[in-house]
Amino acid sequence: MLSPGATIGILGGGQLGRMLAIEAARLGFRCIGYAPEGDNVAAEVCADFFVNRWDDGPALAAFASQCDAVTLEFENVPLFVLEALPSDRLAPGTKALAVAQDRLAEKRFVEELGGRTAPFASVETRDDLAGAIERVGMPGILKTRRDGYDGKGQWRLSGASDIEGFAWPDRSLIYEGLVAFEAEFSVIAVRGRDGAMAFWESPDNRHESGILARSLLPAPDLVRAQQGAARDLARAVAQRLDYVGVLTLEFFATRDGPVFNEMAPRVHNSGHWTIEGAITSQFANHIRAVAGLPLGDTSTTAREVVMTNLIGAYGDRVFDSLAEPGTHLHLYGKAEAREGRKMGHTTRIVSG
Ligand code: AMP
Repeated sequence: MLSPGATIGILGGGQLGRMLAIEAARLGFRCIGYAPEGDNVAAEVCADFFVNRWDDGPALAAFASQCDAVTLEFENVPLFVLEALPSDRLAPGTKALAVAQDRLAEKRFVEELGGRTAPFASVETRDDLAGAIERVGMPGILKTRRDGYDGKGQWRLSGASDIEGFAWPDRSLIYEGLVAFEAEFSVIAVRGRDGAMAFWESPDNRHESGILARSLLPAPDLVRAQQGAARDLARAVAQRLDYVGVLTLEFFATRDGPVFNEMAPRVHNSGHWTIEGAITSQFANHIRAVAGLPLGDTSTTAREVVMTNLIGAYGDRVFDSLAEPGTHLHLYGKAEAREGRKMGHTTRIVSG
């Protein structure tokens, strides 16, 4: 268990790190961050921040020497970075990252645990793709195995012309059959150092162009009916990975039950609503788990929640939402509002 005033290191410098550091400060912990050059908005709320390349060994050692525990807010931290850190202080661990960084490894891992996934095939060459389409069928989605996020590194294939015109990336790929889903939802779970687990209510996640646009609660009946089975899978995943911290699994709700899509070994955009909508937020519980503290109650406090992402340029009138009853605004302090970039979010709470 960490002592009051201990230092928590966070790998990655984005908005998730920023919201983690804000919560850590409420418990008196000091956060220091580490990330390569970029718009590291977590740095503004950290006690110290290392802007260094991942392969800068001396900088990483200097960072680690100051940390009583190390966690992450970005799942694509290279594994050699995690391997260079003391494993007893790192949460979640290297194994969780190794699985979650690779869409192929992730799907195989979940299947082994009895979870259902979209039909999939590994694709390295054009011949592989032809074989994959034959087995899985069309339409489907070709995705990079690694480094994809928010719909980036994904191509929908519906017919021969899509394949002919496809600009082949120099990457390992996975081809997935298109899942006919009724809704999308996530299981946001937290596991403590003692193995205790808790879950937040699963939100109904609405995506636009592959990016999460809104998370809504309560979720429709179909999602609520599938939440239990999805949680069982999340529990099995967390136990097998000896996981510590918040773990998110995304699912498609289909007429035949939940189909696993992907996992994130971290706090997740679809859990932002928990800041105002649950007794203990995903950020607070992640810090508690990393610090070896008792987990907090994850119960929903609101009757209805609408979390809306602010994506791209949001204009001068963004503060107008502050005047709307029950609405909470979070801006991440990013310098540049590029298209498709998550700049902030609002959470509207209907209590009762
Ligand atoms: P991902 O990055 O894998 O989470 O994909 C982003 C979004 O694209 C998902 O949330 C879905 O809306 C959609 N999507 C991804 N894979 C599939 C699939 N196999 N079938 C149907 N929709 C998908």
